[in-house]
Amino acid sequence: MLDKIKKLSDILNESYSEKTLSSALSEFFTTNFEIRDFHLNIDNDSKLKHSYPLYKHKKCLGSIEFSDIDANLTRFLDICSQFISLKVQNILLNEKMQKDVNYHDMMKNIAKIIETQYELKYIIPIIGEMLDKFFENYLIYIFLKDEGTGINVLSYPNACKDEKIIEITKDLKEKISISDNKIYAIPLTFEGKNIGTLVAKSTEEEVTEKDKEYLEQLSNQIATTINRANIYAEILKHATLDALTGFYNRRQLEVRIKQEVANAKRQHAPLCGIMTDIDFFKSVNDNYGHVVGDLVLKTIAKVIRGQLREYDIAGRYGGEEFSILLPFTKINEAQMVAERLRQTVEKKVIDISKAAPDCETKSINITLSLGIYEIKENDNDEDLIKKADKALYQAKNTGRNKVVINSD
Ligand code: GH3
Ligand code: MG
Ligand code: MG
Repeated sequence: MLDKIKKLSDILNESYSEKTLSSALSEFFTTNFEIRDFHLNIDNDSKLKHSYPLYKHKKCLGSIEFSDIDANLTRFLDICSQFISLKVQNILLNEKMQKDVNYHDMMKNIAKIIETQYELKYIIPIIGEMLDKFFENYLIYIFLKDEGTGINVLSYPNACKDEKIIEITKDLKEKISISDNKIYAIPLTFEGKNIGTLVAKSTEEEVTEKDKEYLEQLSNQIATTINRANIYAEILKHATLDALTGFYNRRQLEVRIKQEVANAKRQHAPLCGIMTDIDFFKSVNDNYGHVVGDLVLKTIAKVIRGQLREYDIAGRYGGEEFSILLPFTKINEAQMVAERLRQTVEKKVIDISKAAPDCETKSINITLSLGIYEIKENDNDEDLIKKADKALYQAKNTGRNKVVINSD
């Protein structure tokens, strides 16, 4: 008997989690007693016939269960069950404390994301993954309200097959428990404004009150982080984008030119620049007013964007001059892009009836002149635009509405 008590004591000393304790005890009881099966029951999942309760003071923590029991085992348990109880107590307390530590770490990390990321499309998956890891038995969903449509859009994870979740998140004003308390949804609000929804769906038991508390506090932190990201993105947008066309502004364009030239040189990849200038734009302003002039600029910007690949770069160089960078593109391909662009603009009928309601003319056509240059080994960043501009100048001087290549 003493020998067995000593062995049990060693096992208890060496176990630090419910899982290791459970398997060590199972091994111990099945090899040292006449039993076939052992089960440590802490989560109320009774499995075997004979159960021996584990108490903490007078509160039942769970039980140890056996397939068979005899006098020998009963005597052993009478002496030793309290040691097992103590160990279980210890492990449960430890796990609870560890969960609190992890929770506070997660809160801190969500608040800090903004220091490295401000785009929601990157931030939301990071938050979603943190929550998924923390709430092991729940699936986490994050919906964000689309500013334009006012509709909640799933932002994490990629899909939600649960119709009930989709339904409740359409217009959630208050936190809510549904599906026998297995789904818990909380609106994300910032300063009274609804900005989305956080949903936890349990894959096992009901969502616990403690976890609801965690989720509510997290929802506040998430809403704050989203709001800060939105403010930061807004500031950055104004600093880098041209308000009228949505293209890069001159300053940001210069930053991108430097990057692309450096890239092209490093990778020995071709890079072309196109400079465009609207023909007789001054007369558009003079004849139809500045509102129409602005509409033309917006329309041309849209046409340009529509003709480019995703990784091509367009910027507003000056008033009615746009610059286009075509990475990984040789001069003959760039010529094709420029020619296609010229023709699309030429054919585009611009409806000015709303911008100039009093004007007899209801629509106008305009044309573009374009200059192209492919960067060479010895060129610096400024040469790309300077040499494309030289070709543009030539296009202007030789009739306009044409594409000219600078083959210096
Ligand atoms: P060209 O064919 O030689 O290019 O003739 P042009 O009339 O286009 O001549 P220029 O390029 O010198 O004219 C630029 C005009 O663009 C002058 C200015 O009134 C107009 N402009 C520049 N920025 C804006 C803007 O933001 N909005 C409007 N409406 N007009 C602008
Ligand atoms: Mg000009
Ligand atoms: Mg012009």
